[in-house]
Amino acid sequence: MNHRIAILGSTGSIGCSALQVIEHLGEPYRATGLGAHSRLEQLVQQVRRHRPTAVVVTGEDADEAALRQIADCGAELYRGSQGMCRLVERDDVDVVLAAVVGAAGLPAVLATVKAGKRLALANKESLVVAGSLVIPEARRSGAEIIPVDSEHSAIFQALQCGRRDQVQRVILTASGGPFRNATAGQMHNATLQDALNHPTWRMGNKNTIDSATLFNKGLELIEACWLFDLPPEQIEIVIHPESVIHSMVEFVDGSVLAQLSPPDMRMPIQYAITYPSRLRGSTKRLNLAEPFQFRFQPPDVDRFPAVRIAYDVARRGGTLGAVMNAANEEAVAAFCGGKIAFGEISRAVELTIEAHRLQPSPTLDDLLEADRWAREAVAGLLAESKLRKFAHAP
Ligand code: NDP
Ligand code: MG
Repeated sequence: MNHRIAILGSTGSIGCSALQVIEHLGEPYRATGLGAHSRLEQLVQQVRRHRPTAVVVTGEDADEAALRQIADCGAELYRGSQGMCRLVERDDVDVVLAAVVGAAGLPAVLATVKAGKRLALANKESLVVAGSLVIPEARRSGAEIIPVDSEHSAIFQALQCGRRDQVQRVILTASGGPFRNATAGQMHNATLQDALNHPTWRMGNKNTIDSATLFNKGLELIEACWLFDLPPEQIEIVIHPESVIHSMVEFVDGSVLAQLSPPDMRMPIQYAITYPSRLRGSTKRLNLAEPFQFRFQPPDVDRFPAVRIAYDVARRGGTLGAVMNAANEEAVAAFCGGKIAFGEISRAVELTIEAHRLQPSPTLDDLLEADRWAREAVAGLLAESKLRKFAHAP
């Protein structure tokens, strides 16, 4: 049974889309668990509408009145990161949609695969940090990991057309973000508003900034290596501004299989929930009667060093995924807070990686320590003014 779903990060962009998908699917699909961090007013509305049996609030200074309102709806209330882990273990949860942003999603992702439940994975950061633990744990328990990230959903679908040893390469598409055609100078001085102006997708702020630096594609490269057991050399990143071809798989005979649909995350979310079934979708259909164009170009690694950095991290492995991810989270927060220029995000990550002593076979404690170390390293770079500032208002 795959019908009782816990959505962690229900107040976010993916979480809200997931609730729409569940409403569209109707019975027997139900959101039995919801989880949010700070947007409690929105969470209370979701609880009233979807009547989950369990709710987790991770933010520390949560509004007591909101917590009471949630309890009044009859939901069992959990708190904190540990609470997310307890919620996913409940008997009335079959599928966990991991839609928390950042490494904060890792404990619940690990708890889900340990419990042998289906993990519908949007939280790519957890695999970047700890794919070396999550994937073996899923193999041991038999937990299915179905990607929600649109590119990985496309690859997952295309891979069903051949055997793994018949795969020549995977082509990971990227929209190119708002700075696809910008000069290096324009990018360096981009404002927060410029960076948040994504041409094809509406997402949470962190993911949108990651799409502008192409760190999103770098994270997705590492995510794909773990999900599909591929070396980075077998994965090629291609800019496809229309965001209609969500990715492709080339097989050894030269045949290329792609998955297409207008950009709308409700499509891969629904597939991850209903797989292996395909049920009627609610999203806009592809209309090839309208004039259209598909463009492809290689990423410019000089303007987008994130691509080069991520390939290097994917090849070297160990603690580097955790370091790259944590440094990026901190650098994005610093950019959003007006503390560093857009062009300094990649540099902050690169400087942090350079200073890190790689551990090749890390335990969970090693990875959490690497994450903590990298965040402090970025704070150190900021304190020592090693990163150039930019004058945009936070
Ligand atoms: P949002 O910022 O819109 O939402 C993030 C969610 O995580 C919110 O519900 C937020 O709660 C919650 N959250 C934030 N911090 C914590 C924490 N420390 N502990 C627990 N929960 C927390 O992000 P998106 O929905 O855009 O992205 C979510 C994930 O999905 C990311 O990993 C992203 O990379 C991935 N993804 C997103 C896509 C998209 O289209 N948006 C596409 C593909 C992947 P609250 O709002 O209550 O503070
Ligand atoms: Mg994606």
